[in-house]
Amino acid sequence: MITILEQPLKIPGGLRLDANKSQSLGAALRRARIPERLFVPLSQHIGEAAEPLLEVGDSILKGQPIARSHSYISAPLHAPTSGRIIDIGAYPAPHPSGLKADCIVIEADGEDRAGPDSLRMDDVFEADPADIRQRVRNAGIVGLGGAGFPTSVKLNPGPDREVELLVINGAECEPYISCDESLMCYRTREVIDGVHIMRHALRARQVVIGIEDTMPKAISCLQNELDVAGDTDIRVIAVPTVYPAGGEKQLIYILTGEEVPSQGLPIDLGIVCHNVGTAAAIGRALLQGEPLIARVVTVTGAGVRQPANLEVRIGTPIAELIEQCGGYTDKVARLLMGGPMMGLSLPSDAIPVIKTTNCILAASIEEAPAPLPAQPCIRCGKCAEVCPACLLPQQLYWYAHARNFDKIQDYKLFDCIECGCCTQVCPSHIPLVQYYRFAKTEIWDQEREREKADMARHRHEFRLERLQREKQELQQRRAKAKKALNKPKVGDAESRKAEIAAALERVKARKAKQSVTARNTDNLTEEQRAEIAEIDKRRTSGHKEDRA
Ligand code: SF4
Ligand code: SF4
Repeated sequence: MITILEQPLKIPGGLRLDANKSQSLGAALRRARIPERLFVPLSQHIGEAAEPLLEVGDSILKGQPIARSHSYISAPLHAPTSGRIIDIGAYPAPHPSGLKADCIVIEADGEDRAGPDSLRMDDVFEADPADIRQRVRNAGIVGLGGAGFPTSVKLNPGPDREVELLVINGAECEPYISCDESLMCYRTREVIDGVHIMRHALRARQVVIGIEDTMPKAISCLQNELDVAGDTDIRVIAVPTVYPAGGEKQLIYILTGEEVPSQGLPIDLGIVCHNVGTAAAIGRALLQGEPLIARVVTVTGAGVRQPANLEVRIGTPIAELIEQCGGYTDKVARLLMGGPMMGLSLPSDAIPVIKTTNCILAASIEEAPAPLPAQPCIRCGKCAEVCPACLLPQQLYWYAHARNFDKIQDYKLFDCIECGCCTQVCPSHIPLVQYYRFAKTEIWDQEREREKADMARHRHEFRLERLQREKQELQQRRAKAKKALNKPKVGDAESRKAEIAAALERVKARKAKQSVTARNTDNLTEEQRAEIAEIDKRRTSGHKEDRA
């Protein structure tokens, strides 16, 4: 039995950071203009990239599927607006490598005409959870709060697993990012609709929405909506504002005191956690029939004139958003996708918004200072003090640096949530998180190589086995044939006798025929007989001449 605590706990470690959210919360959430061209990357989330369904030149309607997903951990893509596909190829995309990625390029026709609706479920609260999961998958919904894990997978607890608690994560803890807060304030109904659908799909016994205590407006909006609907069994709880309280494991601990086991999942405890943005996307898809073609993005930082929260179509280039927020100021120094702690540094504003883009931070040099040169670790232990996952960051760094990928896993590398607290406090300016990301990538690559080698070895062993089996079968067939040849056949003498008898019969019949032919001459006239005698005579003399 999971108990929702009356008094939320504090996470170990963590940092109290300046929120810097008021800049973007000054205005109401609004819809961004649809750009003339949208660039929809085929890979926008954890799992396999989607595969294009249409070709260059094809016309499309808003919400029409444009790329399908084959694997379980993947999600389809939909046209963000109506228009025409003008290219499928490599374009700038948000990726740590900075390399281009395959995108479907759409030229908008300005009409924003929607295609047929195949997602809406009028009887969603009567529907089978499997049908709901399938619609959520068809809608291309992924987790909008983090790495973008396909939501349909997280809505499936698996056989014989009961969901005791559904946690809705509204604790948007990273500075500058306010898209979830804005969503909770301005799209409250969609959030609550999604929460109800998720509760039904998971058959969750309890539901709690965790929101940082510095978001009173969001808390009151949700609570009012629940009160109006008479929803007394969904609780809204204010949690202490500390970074990274919005981490999945951290929020579960704060609300319940339960610790997700190392390398385990919340479902191991009977808990499932979803982001508020994901809830709103589900509400919108299953009750309004709109797949995931837009999301709320915070555009902020001292480098942009009018920070705001905008509802943006997926595929919109960042340059368009900056322009719609008044353009750059002369303070802009760096562009980040995400916040200052976990954000991805962008090489250009041609990069489009994807499903997991929560914030565009046009940062000044003070907001995102250039990293200072790293110095040797002085073993001060400050990184361990702030680690919310209770890890030893300096040990992780040491083994990552030494490329000792076995040992680093003993120190629970995969429990690191890459929050960046350790990097933030390190007096030696060591980019610790980069080392952890590098180590994780190397380990995943090694595992993939090992899997490939294992598969190749299995294939080789299977082939050898097959060849050996075929050889044995051939030998057996040959031995059998030889044996059959040498074996005296039953009835051989009898059949020989029969053959001889048949041959004798044939000779007899021939002779009989000849005598019949001879007897036929009896009826010849004298003239005919003389003629035959003449022919015989000529034939006989001919034979003699031949012999001569
Ligand atoms: S904070 Fe930096 S210097 Fe201090 S122990 Fe950690 S890695 Fe070393
Ligand atoms: S980045 Fe990882 S190691 Fe560093 S503080 Fe966060 S969880 Fe701990």
